[in-house]
Amino acid sequence: MTSVKINEALCKGCGLCANACPKNVLSLSKHNMNAKGYFVAEVVNPQHCIGCTFCAIMCPDCAITVSE
Ligand code: SF4
Ligand code: SF4
Repeated sequence: MTSVKINEALCKGCGLCANACPKNVLSLSKHNMNAKGYFVAEVVNPQHCIGCTFCAIMCPDCAITVSE
């Protein structure tokens, strides 16, 4: 099963991954803030992920890992 993971420590809450995802798997958190003070991206619909890796390609901080 495809799995998408976000390294919250690297995330800067830009939202590019959520915008790039065609399946609405990702969303910016309204509550979960990392040590740098950014509201981080979260995996909200993991079951919908098709493993396209668009999110990982878009992330400017290499915070996303997609694996089979
Ligand atoms: S791999 Fe594709 S479907 Fe899965 S979270 Fe990333 S952009 Fe969305
Ligand atoms: S694209 Fe990367 S840095 Fe931006 S919100 Fe998504 S995981 Fe965080």
